[in-house]
Amino acid sequence: MTAVGNLDMAVIPTAVAVASETDPDTVYQVQLPYCPCKDWRYRRAHFDGDFSSLFCKHLRTALERVSGWHSAPPAPEVHAPLTHVEVKELLQGSKVGFQPREANGVLARAAANEIAEFRTRLTGGPLVDGTVEFNRLHGTYRVTIVR
Ligand SMILES: [Zn+2]
Repeated sequence: MTAVGNLDMAVIPTAVAVASETDPDTVYQVQLPYCPCKDWRYRRAHFDGDFSSLFCKHLRTALERVSGWHSAPPAPEVHAPLTHVEVKELLQGSKVGFQPREANGVLARAAANEIAEFRTRLTGGPLVDGTVEFNRLHGTYRVTIVR
């Protein structure tokens, strides 16, 4: 872009650097309306007419910064208290897709710390974020999944 005299107007930037939430060493150079991340490429490739499904976290952040645009975050999916067997089935099911060893690892972290966060990617699919909370008193687990 070249300067054209002293135009007395606000220019809305379209290039925004957005730090990755999971990897502090990664910064995505978002060039609206494009994001260089894998999640965005997946969303674009699988666009089904639902406009809101197009935006990855970085695009949402970039749009919020340049325009004050706010979108409703995806509603988390909260599961009622689950037993150990039920929570393993959920983590290894189609919504999260963990291998048994990964599910055991998350459950062990939840049992040790009362809460364990996880992030995974379904095969060829979008990122899945979630938490497993362990209730020591009742020996139950509560799972929250955010896509
Ligand atoms: Zn992105």
